Amino acid sequence: MNILDKIKLLSGKDVWHTHDINEKLPSILMSDGPSGLRKQIDNSDNLGVNNSVPSTLFPAPATLACSFNPKMAYLMGEAIGLEARNQEVNLVLAPGINIKRNDLCGRNFEYFSEDPLLAGIMGKKYIEGLQSNNVGASLKHFAANNQEDYRFNIDSVIDERALREIYLKNFQIALEAKPKTVMCSYNKLNGELVAQNKWLLTDVLRDEFKFSGLVVSDWGAVSNRVKSLKAGLDLEMPANYGYSYKLVKKTLDKNEITKELIEKSASRVIKLVNELKDNKKLNLNYDYSKEAARTIARESIVLLKNENVLPFRETDKVLIVGEFAKRPRNQGGGSSFVNSYESLSLLSEISKYTQNYKYLQGYSLDGNGDDNLLLKEVLLEAKDYDKVLIMSGLPDDYETEGVDRTNIDLPSSHLKLIDQVSKINNNVVVNLYTGAAIAMPFINNVQGVINSHLLGFDSATALLDIVYGKVSPSGRLAYTNPFRIEDNISSKNFANANNAVYYLESIYVGYRYYVTRQKEVLFPFGYGLSYSSFEYSNIFIDRDVITKDNKITLKVNVKNTGNIEASEVVMVFIENNKSSVHKPLRELRKFDKVNLQPKEEKVVEFTLEYDDFSYYDVNLKRFHVDRGKYKIQVCKNANEVILEEVVKRLENDFDFIEHEVSAYNNVDIVSDEDFRKLFNYELPLRNVKRNGPYSLDNNLEDVKETFIGKLLYKLIFKEVEKLYKSNDKNWVVNVVNNTIGKTPLRTIATMSNKVISLRQMQALVDLMNRKIIRGLLKVWW
Ligand code: BGC
Repeated sequence: MNILDKIKLLSGKDVWHTHDINEKLPSILMSDGPSGLRKQIDNSDNLGVNNSVPSTLFPAPATLACSFNPKMAYLMGEAIGLEARNQEVNLVLAPGINIKRNDLCGRNFEYFSEDPLLAGIMGKKYIEGLQSNNVGASLKHFAANNQEDYRFNIDSVIDERALREIYLKNFQIALEAKPKTVMCSYNKLNGELVAQNKWLLTDVLRDEFKFSGLVVSDWGAVSNRVKSLKAGLDLEMPANYGYSYKLVKKTLDKNEITKELIEKSASRVIKLVNELKDNKKLNLNYDYSKEAARTIARESIVLLKNENVLPFRETDKVLIVGEFAKRPRNQGGGSSFVNSYESLSLLSEISKYTQNYKYLQGYSLDGNGDDNLLLKEVLLEAKDYDKVLIMSGLPDDYETEGVDRTNIDLPSSHLKLIDQVSKINNNVVVNLYTGAAIAMPFINNVQGVINSHLLGFDSATALLDIVYGKVSPSGRLAYTNPFRIEDNISSKNFANANNAVYYLESIYVGYRYYVTRQKEVLFPFGYGLSYSSFEYSNIFIDRDVITKDNKITLKVNVKNTGNIEASEVVMVFIENNKSSVHKPLRELRKFDKVNLQPKEEKVVEFTLEYDDFSYYDVNLKRFHVDRGKYKIQVCKNANEVILEEVVKRLENDFDFIEHEVSAYNNVDIVSDEDFRKLFNYELPLRNVKRNGPYSLDNNLEDVKETFIGKLLYKLIFKEVEKLYKSNDKNWVVNVVNNTIGKTPLRTIATMSNKVISLRQMQALVDLMNRKIIRGLLKVWW
């Protein structure tokens, strides 16, 4: 292969394939897939406008994480891997393990947790399962991509400690599974686009975390191919049809980059292709996947409230209310959207459990019905039933890639329904289909609440198994559910600026904040009820001094004291020492899920390592264990300690320097001024008005006042109308303003399915900058 071939390998061939080099190297196929495979039929369709090949829709990653069972993550990865082999997909663009910094992130349904350990382990096991079929994984989105608003270029400003302990820790753990690829995220991190961030992609990822696979860009994340190459980005996706090729070649011709640089990345592409290309097609019937999806769902459903109302008896006369019973919400929108070959609903399955039920619509999902009439119908009957099961949750357009939520409320029609029904019936259970936290103003008025989250193709069997008592619920919240969105410390600095987002809360993400500052929440991280009860006893540790070379063995007895087989999630948190270094009160360090027959007791064992007591010390530039007393706490959830033991670290390392007391030691929300002290450079402005001269990096909205920008807007408007076959002007305006408007011109071009090439877009930019001749020449040649 000559150097020109190798340059070709640095960008994709189309939307989903790597470049082939005739007779020397075939191309391989990639498809999306956190919740199932999305193999697009059309090679130029990256927006998923046209259908993908039907496949199994698994529970969303947000659901899976609530299983607190790494085996479930392995199972999901494995089953998706088998489908990939069946559909001859070589690389699956999953898992996404970004931290849920704020409840409003539009993609929370696609991510695992607010906690890096849980997110990291679920990601790791998912990758192991997927790659056990020799299908490559793409661990994404590396890193600090925690909001959808302005996701292509927002600058995530994060202090070193928060990066190390939270936003990189999850990746560090998942990388233990050796994913074939890592996908870099769209955003900037501390001033530099991730796609060209050498510190992140090379110094941290390769040198420190020892990643030896290939780094692929998120689709349309590359701004300057040469800069990204230098930073360590091997493969740019999707194709940009020669644009990057020319740039790299020109730079090489001018001797501004070396051949070796190109060869290094090209050789990673070649290695990846050679490792994955020979996969034989597996013939499959999809029963394995279906059973896997149901098993995961059964382990993940979270019972949040139960005042003697659940489980239902077969003989109970039950009123089922809510259109979700018929048309379940079973996944989130965007690149992870699966064309599910089947969709089972509560109504399609309930007769397998009882004949004693009636269904009423209650509200209308698409606005075609009259909500007041539907409600009236329910109120006429609700009191005549032993139990009412209200099927509620967030409709499709509430949670989708590309847009953040603006609140955590259920639709008002659902809230009104729950409110009124709970006044006339005293056995009301609300089931929620959501991908993330929601406010529950009804919590004290109803007797039962289940959060099923998003269950995949079968939204019924696992739920009915729990509702009718065939299985005891064992899911736990993988996030904190606050009362109100304002309670989340990051809400004040979330998706409210066009240029930079300050992660002012630093390491105090999710429960790390609520627990440390003793803020009440609706449901803490790790919360979830069972139909059984458990007794914990005999906590034992084999040593009480923390040293570098000795691990601590922790044992605890867990007994199922109820009358039903049930699983219990055993969580081990470490309560941190008191020190000049500020720290969260407690942090999750281990967890396990045990299944117990009635009256059965098991000893659950954990090994705690030196690092489990550590924090990242910014002076030492490494993780360090501070001297002092720590508590090893066996917990029910982040708020509730069951048993604990004290251990200590006697001395600090010789090079440790005491920290000055900082605002983070006691203040709820630190000021910008205090935050600035964590950085040794001038922080970017949160908001900027971007006037010309323009470049391809400008967002569409930046140029909308220019003559050419206006024309571009119109063109895009027409294309969106055509592409999505939408007659709804408001919807189109919304998409164009709020999503595409916040997208850089280069990304619009790359993602436009050849409607406008990067060269043509550059020509428009030249014209906007009044470089008329240069622009026109580009249009013509
Ligand atoms: C998403 C990725 C996805 C890619 C390809 C991007 O917009 O952020 O998660 O894998 O598209 O569909």
